[in-house]
This record gives sequence, C-alpha cells and structure tokens, in this order.
Amino acid sequence: MRCSVGVQMTKEEFDAILAHLRTLDPDRVRRVMEQNKEVQWFEDISRECCIFLHTTTLDCLIYPARPLICRLFGRVEWLPCPVGKEVPQLKGGLDIIRDYSRETRRTFPEWQVETGLFDLRSLLEKSI
Ligand code: SF4
Repeated sequence: MRCSVGVQMTKEEFDAILAHLRTLDPDRVRRVMEQNKEVQWFEDISRECCIFLHTTTLDCLIYPARPLICRLFGRVEWLPCPVGKEVPQLKGGLDIIRDYSRETRRTFPEWQVETGLFDLRSLLEKSI
C-alpha cells in the first residue's frame, strides 16, 4: 500500500522536512496538507494517506526530504517497490534499518506536538 498515514521519522528527519516545507510556496503546502487524506481504495474500503501525499497527482510534497523508510522502498528486497519500478538494490539495507530502528522515531504529527508546532502557520513560520 503506497504512502499510507503513520510514517515514522527521526527528529533530524522532522527538522529536515520542516526546513524543506519552509522553502515551498505556502499555498501549495496548505493545498496538500489540508486535503482530505481519506481515499477510496477498493469498492468498500478506504484508506488514510500520508499527510504529504497529494491524493490526486500522487506527488510527495517533501520528496527531496522524505524519511529513510520512504527512500528504501524498492531498494531492499523486503520492501518491494509498491508500483513495481526496477531500481538498483542497496547493499547493507538490513544493517541500515537496524541502526535506524534504534533511533527515536515518531510520526510527523507526533513531532509537531512535541515541538509545539501544532498548526500549519506555526509549522511554516515559527523557528524551533
Ligand atoms: S513522505 Fe512522501 S514518500 Fe513518504 S509516505 Fe509520505 S508521501 Fe509517500
């Protein structure tokens, strides 16, 4: 399932995403982040997408700053590309994820709560 809600990231990744968001057109950020993320998946099944996924174009708002787990899809055998793209495999992917899983990771909204950046305005303007 591609780009579902709940992707976890380290604080460093959160900071990098924040810095990237602040380089983007605020109207574009608002358009994507304020979209309804509940989309129909199959006839009777809906799913909630990642807050950074544009649910119509399927573009990732923060692609250059996306967290490690998003970068690993398709690059390690245990995380196959959800759209079947052939990309070069990464050596040592298991070691990378083992190290990464020792880091404190939270979802973007959880980091927002922890840093006091609750709304889009403070997210885009307030320094941390
Ligand atoms: S951060 Fe980007 S690549 Fe990762 S799940 Fe969200 S939309 Fe997809």
